[in-house]
Amino acid sequence: MQLLEERILKDGTVKPGNVLKVDSFLNHRMDIGLINEIGKEFRRRFPSDKITKILTIEASGIGIACIAAQYFQVPVVFAKKAQSINIDGEVYHTKVESFTHKKVYDVILSRKFLDPDDHVLVIDDFLANGCALMGLLDIIEEAGATLEGAGIVIEKGFQQGGQIIRQKGIHLESLAIIDTMTDTSLTFR
Ligand code: 5GP
Repeated sequence: MQLLEERILKDGTVKPGNVLKVDSFLNHRMDIGLINEIGKEFRRRFPSDKITKILTIEASGIGIACIAAQYFQVPVVFAKKAQSINIDGEVYHTKVESFTHKKVYDVILSRKFLDPDDHVLVIDDFLANGCALMGLLDIIEEAGATLEGAGIVIEKGFQQGGQIIRQKGIHLESLAIIDTMTDTSLTFR
């Protein structure tokens, strides 16, 4: 998506540890005009009218998923990162290792909000090693729901997540795929 790639080149900054900071427009200050275009683009790439829910993970996926959801006319549910929990029968549960915080989180979603009839589109801001996305896929599987696909705003193509997900035959759409990233240059696929 050209508009997004141009914005990454203009305002993105590279931090140690292969972290791309896009907090001036995507996940701290949010450029709603741009995110609205992102939402429309996800709809264009996932035209299926079977989708009943958009699933994301807190925190930075939520705003993007909500704006996108207006083009799908479906609810958003988000998985919560729990600090320490007694897992009870009321929630789906998985574990996710955070790329940016290097910490393993328990991730939960209330059983009330996802069921076997659901057809789910997953949306998130970044795809790096794929842990967050795999965690969300675990939850969908646990619920017995159907995965329709995954929409990612920025995939870091030099990390393994995209390859793992595509090898599973999952419909993955990343709006910008970064192939190389250094302090001074970025290239897109
Ligand atoms: P993964 O689980 O695929 O390794 O990483 C995805 C999650 O980590 C995303 O939900 C995102 O919040 C965070 N993340 C991964 N890489 C980056 C990055 O380069 N920049 C930012 N801002 N977040 C990232």
